[in-house]
Amino acid sequence: MDVGTNQKKFIWILWAFIVPPGLYLTYHFFPPQIENIWGVISLFVMTACASFMPIVINSTPMVMIQWVTLAAFLQYGLFFEVLLMQFSVVLLLVKLRINKNEMYRIPLNSSMFFLVSILSGLLYFGIGGEIGPQPLEELVGPAIVYQVMNIILNQVILIVFFRFLDRKIKLLGEDLVWDFLSIMLMFPLGVTWFYLSLELGAVSLFLLGIPFISVATLLRLYNSSEKINQYLQKAVEIGHQLTENLNVKEVLDLFLDRITSTLPVEYAYILDVKDDKLILIRRVEKGELKNNDISPLKRNEDISGGVWASGKSIIFRNKTEWDSLVGGYMPEDAESVICVPIVRSQMVRGVLLLASSKKNAFEKYQLMIVDILCSYLGVAIANARHYETTKWDSERCALTKLYNYRYFEIELEAVIAGLHSGEYECISLIMLDIDRFKSINDTYGHQSGNEILCVLAQKLEKLIDLRGTVARYGGEEFVILLKDIKKGEALKLAEDIRIHIESHSFLLHSDLEKERKQLSVNITASLGVATAPYEADDGLSLIRQADRALYTGAKQAGRNRVAQYVK
Ligand code: GH3
Ligand code: MG
Ligand code: MG
Repeated sequence: MDVGTNQKKFIWILWAFIVPPGLYLTYHFFPPQIENIWGVISLFVMTACASFMPIVINSTPMVMIQWVTLAAFLQYGLFFEVLLMQFSVVLLLVKLRINKNEMYRIPLNSSMFFLVSILSGLLYFGIGGEIGPQPLEELVGPAIVYQVMNIILNQVILIVFFRFLDRKIKLLGEDLVWDFLSIMLMFPLGVTWFYLSLELGAVSLFLLGIPFISVATLLRLYNSSEKINQYLQKAVEIGHQLTENLNVKEVLDLFLDRITSTLPVEYAYILDVKDDKLILIRRVEKGELKNNDISPLKRNEDISGGVWASGKSIIFRNKTEWDSLVGGYMPEDAESVICVPIVRSQMVRGVLLLASSKKNAFEKYQLMIVDILCSYLGVAIANARHYETTKWDSERCALTKLYNYRYFEIELEAVIAGLHSGEYECISLIMLDIDRFKSINDTYGHQSGNEILCVLAQKLEKLIDLRGTVARYGGEEFVILLKDIKKGEALKLAEDIRIHIESHSFLLHSDLEKERKQLSVNITASLGVATAPYEADDGLSLIRQADRALYTGAKQAGRNRVAQYVK
């Protein structure tokens, strides 16, 4: 919750005006009649237990305290009830581990509950309710009104405060229904304790407290196993989504997205083992993808380096537990940390580090879930990398690393389809064949010929850049596919390429001589250009026309020239 500094100041001032003087006045007008100090102590003990053991219903934690404060009110009066309620508020906020920034929640809740206590107490007296021993039939009516008023006032004051803080609150939501039900269900317990302690004194703490705490504990255990179940189901779901994805980048994004939405994570880092370093490959901080410019880690360096070396997951509850281990980067306000190795084939391939600015933010079972997710991640990354390299290999020529004929054929068909659907206006194709390449092989050896092919491939890629697709068509033939480039422009580009090849020497090592001396070799190339839809309508005939231009127009006319299709 974002609350401004002025609002916070106001809350503290409001508290100072309401609670301390209110407490004094309550003491003055409704002095507690304490006869049995052990009875009082037993109420404090029960309040502490109930505050520290919220019962989770429908995944909303609820503090079952009203039945204790009801018993306290009926027995010792308004002042004591107010005191007990304040005690419970402070304990609950301690239990919720609020940080410095949220300190204002103490005066806020203290004032709210003070007003609830006072107003419902006054109403109780107003309708003739009394404190101390009395027959059940006289007590029940006012006590029910008191309890119901308690719930209503709580809600009304909550709404008023939230309005002041400019925050929306759900009226009559499911939480309120649960609140109402649970408090009313506990009502008989409160009345029972009141009569029982009148009769038996502090012993009633054991008679009612033990079953209450037992039930609360059982509910908590049940709830946490429910939660683990839910997490496991979610983990399996995420695992499937991860392993179905075949793109490494998408796998990482999906993983971080799911993990930050499933767990209370503010900072998430994925590091990859590369040679002898741990390199950051993904960094998400408070929902934002940040750049990865953080120095690589060595083995055993910082938390992640330690997890890489040990291969074991680790959990830290607060900064003091890990501070001395970290020399490198860590977010300023990080407290809780989970760090898990990403293992594949029994080797640590990476490390995941998650952090939160809250202390004790992560439970042990959440570490277990992250462990499971990381093993899915390891497999998913391996799958995706394998797929990506296989795809790359199947589309590329092993020698020049250019696209191969198979890829080019598919690309050409797709581009022709785009031409037919109106996506492109025209398509030009340049076919290039090195002149008298056989004699280069004969003079310098096949290996040297290969070197020339590789250098030429690089030059072509550089010259064309994003303007088109360069592929190796066959032996020493290359094709360049140009989308939305008209004939004239394509001819000019072909001429630029021809001049570039003619005027730049190729450095190579002759493998026919004993010492592989460095040589400078000049080559030339002939090029043919054709453009669709004017000279061809489908992919194959576009290739054929460019080929024909190359052989008839350029090779036969003396080589080292650019020719275009002529009818
Ligand atoms: P031109 O094209 O000017 O008519 O003469 P050319 O000698 O280049 O003739 P052609 O294109 O028909 O011959 C292709 C030659 O290219 C045959 C072969 O020696 C060589 N060649 C083809 N593929 C490779 C290759 O992968 N590596 C090497 N080193 N040479 C190759
Ligand atoms: Mg040739
Ligand atoms: Mg050839």
